[in-house]
Amino acid sequence: MSSVTLDHVHKRFGKAKGVEDVHIHIESGEFFTFLGPSGCGKTTTLRMIAGFYYPTEGQIRFGSREVTSVPPHKRNTGMVFQNYALFPHMTVFENIAFGLQVRSVGKAEIKERVERIMKLVRLEGFGERRIDQLSGGQQQRVALARALVIEPQILLLDEPLSNLDAKLREETRFEIKRLQLELGITTIYVTHDQAEAMSMSDRIMVMQGGVVQQVGTPHEIYHRPVNRFVASFIGETNLWAGTVVGRDQAEVHVRISSGQVLCGLAKNASPKARLAVGEQVTLSIRPEAVQESSERVGMNIVTGTVVLSEFTGACVHYVTAVGQEQLRSMSINMGRPVKQRGDAIGLHIPKESIYFAG
Ligand code: ATP
Repeated sequence: MSSVTLDHVHKRFGKAKGVEDVHIHIESGEFFTFLGPSGCGKTTTLRMIAGFYYPTEGQIRFGSREVTSVPPHKRNTGMVFQNYALFPHMTVFENIAFGLQVRSVGKAEIKERVERIMKLVRLEGFGERRIDQLSGGQQQRVALARALVIEPQILLLDEPLSNLDAKLREETRFEIKRLQLELGITTIYVTHDQAEAMSMSDRIMVMQGGVVQQVGTPHEIYHRPVNRFVASFIGETNLWAGTVVGRDQAEVHVRISSGQVLCGLAKNASPKARLAVGEQVTLSIRPEAVQESSERVGMNIVTGTVVLSEFTGACVHYVTAVGQEQLRSMSINMGRPVKQRGDAIGLHIPKESIYFAG
């Protein structure tokens, strides 16, 4: 297995920008995901790692080996494409064996390796089937087997689940993660689906407009978003504008549109924000951190009017008007009466859960 380093990599297509200054180190054995909306540069970055595109600037290394301009077939990577790119007229066995045949592996070894990998991806008994006789999920597993059979150092997956229905997508997500853990293979995964990224990855790189916004563990990305884009792209969040009215080493006090002052912890402050008194800031508050409170006054208690209430059994979701802002909250119900539209409500926003998203 191998680590992957992108050293200040840029890709331009004529005058059009592809990606800009990607600088990351992916550890050997890591499950690393490129996440972002359509057109943000995920596939371009993956294709440079596979060798289908060469960077306009910068270097790519696998371990200590520089591969920046090495052609794809000499990189020892296995790739699964969004549409699988299987050979429809060939059998499952022939599809999986193809990469070994072009590498001139002997017949007996091909049989042994293909059968081993079919077992690993749970395709035993399907060897003689043609691709057009398989379900979408089975085709996906053939694509995965074909990528893995060559025993690549690095596995590259470009939106491999996007052609599957929701239930199968979830099952296959666990299947891919199981395989990756079993094989310990360095895996780079491209998706625009944040739930997929959060549930599978050791670390995530969030991109927008060809630029890396943040690299971190799912926990860091969710709880410490560095800017508005990351905060709103990953999960649901409340983004509130405010003005810093006081600060010391430990705490920052911010006035919001209702005139109330909320206190957050200074250590959550984004490195980009200066947070001097008078500074305009954006607060990111996750709905699950906001709890209904019987108090109407106190530290970080805001009052407002319920605009929308939704009872789902275990949880209550409220949208509450607080000044000119709206606050989404989600809490475990615990048998308390559910507030209705127009009711006054008190909500507690713990200071540890207020983040300064730029
Ligand atoms: P999607 O999820 O839609 O596949 P993506 O995040 O993978 O999107 P890329 O395909 O990497 O995005 O595209 C990044 C940018 O580079 C886009 O603005 C795209 O138009 C541009 N781009 C990608 N490939 C080419 C190309 N071959 N020629 C010109 N521009 C390109």
